[in-house]
Amino acid sequence: MAHEAVIGLECHVQLRTNTKMFCACPVRFGSEPNTNVCPVCLGLPGALPRLNDAAVEYALRLGLALGCRVREVSVFARKNYFYPDMPKNYQITQYDLPLCEGGELPAVIDGVPRTFALTRIHLEEDAGKSFHPERHGDRSLSRVDFNRAGVPLVELVTEPVLRTPAECTAFLTALRRLVRALGISDGDMEKGQLRCDANVSLRPAGAAALGTKTEIKNLNSIKGVEKGVTAEIARQRRLLDGGEAIVQATLLYDADHDKLAIMRTKEHAHDYRYFPDPDLPVLRVEQARVARVRETLPELPWVREARLITGYALPAYDAAVLCETPALADYFEAVARGADAKLASNWIMTEVLRVLNERAWTLERWAARVPAERLHDLFARVGSRELPGPVAKQVFAWMCDEDGAVPELLERHGVRVQGSSDELAPLVEQVIHEHPGPVAQYLAGEAKTLGFLVGQVMKKSGGQAVPQVVQELLRAALAKGGPGA
Ligand code: ADP
Ligand code: MG
Ligand code: ZN
Repeated sequence: MAHEAVIGLECHVQLRTNTKMFCACPVRFGSEPNTNVCPVCLGLPGALPRLNDAAVEYALRLGLALGCRVREVSVFARKNYFYPDMPKNYQITQYDLPLCEGGELPAVIDGVPRTFALTRIHLEEDAGKSFHPERHGDRSLSRVDFNRAGVPLVELVTEPVLRTPAECTAFLTALRRLVRALGISDGDMEKGQLRCDANVSLRPAGAAALGTKTEIKNLNSIKGVEKGVTAEIARQRRLLDGGEAIVQATLLYDADHDKLAIMRTKEHAHDYRYFPDPDLPVLRVEQARVARVRETLPELPWVREARLITGYALPAYDAAVLCETPALADYFEAVARGADAKLASNWIMTEVLRVLNERAWTLERWAARVPAERLHDLFARVGSRELPGPVAKQVFAWMCDEDGAVPELLERHGVRVQGSSDELAPLVEQVIHEHPGPVAQYLAGEAKTLGFLVGQVMKKSGGQAVPQVVQELLRAALAKGGPGA
């Protein structure tokens, strides 16, 4: 029987606040183990949590960007379980009354836009980090670092609306871009700032009811999610095809070896004995605050992407690349204003991004070296045919390392662009005389031979003529009747 996969994602996003969720310890990646800790995040007896309002603000930004409903009153609950990296033996999270509900994330799959419905977004604290012997070779001891304990997280839960591993990738890529654009997280999966649990089930194609699901825990790369979900769909398909039933389970996926392992088979909400945390008051978010946060949201990435496509007549691909970060889109818009937008987009996507990559520069560093106005000026000169493409490329290369306006750079490097008819006319005449065959073909109506002749003149100019100007001069000369005329 043909089966279709159903996938729901639970994504954890570490918020980029200065301090932790319920104490004043700094949120910092890469510190010495157990240095960013205090009685609250170590769960010492008698220590009391106090909510970090910045975490609420960030969660509201995310929720409102995604069109969620915001609860005026939401509640922090204790999720009770034992784990060595969780010193209180409970995690403070939100359960039946989360901060945000509903909403949807837009994403593009194979060039086709669609939206993924969300169930909820709630606030919770992160746990510490365990280092287990299997992974470190020192089999006799496990170690734990509490720097991460109490770091604020939002958990974003989707409805079971994803169907393929590729959709998971599109979803996570869109989510990562959004949290970065909102400035609420760096969304770096390698640093654990974005982590994901994937719930997977199969059902007969076309069936309405959902099948029994399994949950792959703690996937920590987008590629890992795609591969893990692919492996789990294949595993379930094999079982169902062999007439076996799927057992609800929590799985671990080892991306390095493409292996799934069953961690535990039964887990129900009631096992966690959720109850409202008596140490924290309910969280109230007034309508006025919701309105204020909504007003201060930046232009959302997918809105900006659509605007670049319609406003600058860019292909969808270009718009997606340029909207990867707000800074890159800002830079593009500053360069493209009043210039040839597609030219600007081509140069930024190929040349600028290549240099950033080669030099491992941030866009900020690049923009300090080559401010948008400088590039704008270069493209304006290409557009007005003052500079031929090859010379513009050369000027661009100088710009990466040197100061100075375009004319200064040309002078400094002793390059004179051959632009005037006086300079080019002799070259045009020479080429017409040297290539009587192609000239005759052109005059006989074969328009495309003109390209060959233009190329010959360009060669003689050492690449320093503007092709459009050469073309005009050739056309005019040939209209007068070819060689000798
Ligand atoms: P749990 O209580 O086990 O965490 P939830 O109902 O809260 O399960 O759902 C967790 C995630 O699993 C959500 O993203 C949801 O969309 C997804 N999900 C629920 N049921 C299924 C299913 N049968 N197949 C795939 N995903 C599912
Ligand atoms: Mg779950
Ligand atoms: Zn602390």
